[in-house]
Amino acid sequence: MGKVYLTGAGPGDLELITVKALRLVREADIIIYDRLANPDILKEAKSGCEFVYVGKEDSHHTLPQEEINEVIYQAALKHERVVRLKGGDPFVFGRGGEEGIYLHQRGIAFEIIPGITSAISVPAYAGIPVTHRGVTASFRVVTGHESDKGESQIPWENFKTDDTIVFLMGLHRLKKITAKLIEIGKPKNHPIAVISRGTTPEEKTVVGTLEDIYAKAKDLPTPALIIVGEVVKLREELSWFES
Ligand code: SAH
Repeated sequence: MGKVYLTGAGPGDLELITVKALRLVREADIIIYDRLANPDILKEAKSGCEFVYVGKEDSHHTLPQEEINEVIYQAALKHERVVRLKGGDPFVFGRGGEEGIYLHQRGIAFEIIPGITSAISVPAYAGIPVTHRGVTASFRVVTGHESDKGESQIPWENFKTDDTIVFLMGLHRLKKITAKLIEIGKPKNHPIAVISRGTTPEEKTVVGTLEDIYAKAKDLPTPALIIVGEVVKLREELSWFES
């Protein structure tokens, strides 16, 4: 039986992969990956390495998680070094925990290789620090993706504080997110930014207010994240990558 490495690939810039992740990609017998911000990482694999793509190009939907878990498990029965490669960090909305539990229950050894999460690094490339002395002392990373049916899983009432809020997977719900933030009492002119394809040569940041960001940013290409808070204004002096 082999070992599985639940590995973070970083946010996009190839050099933002960890030294450890890069070594494992180079040594892997099989790499199981989905929609990566930078698929060029796969070029680092040794010759003869097998690649398994567990996403569907057209719909951007991945295989059901249960099937992915089984693909990883089966790979570990046949190969010595299995790399399960994920964008950013495997535990930040990456379902790495579910994969680890599945393997644990079947007696497969695994390691977690943390990655640089887009939640922090993409704002950094846009010149937006997630915390800043005198501006905000904390930040939250929240899923923007949820069903319109049933109760919201997002603790909106907690967002009344001046924490920085980073929404991942939320561009398609930008209008709903901004409406909800205004509803809980944030001013209409509260700063917000959308950052598309962060840390890559196509990075584009659009800055606005809760009221006007939807019109300005709704058509940006994915992957994109949303960042809300006074820290967005620091970009005026800290923007370095896009300028
Ligand atoms: N595990 C990943 C996040 C997975 S959820 C991590 O730690 O980064 C996928 C979401 O991450 C996307 O919908 C988008 O909101 C965000 N994202 C990932 N890469 C990004 C990038 N290069 N630029 C902007 N947003 C990105």
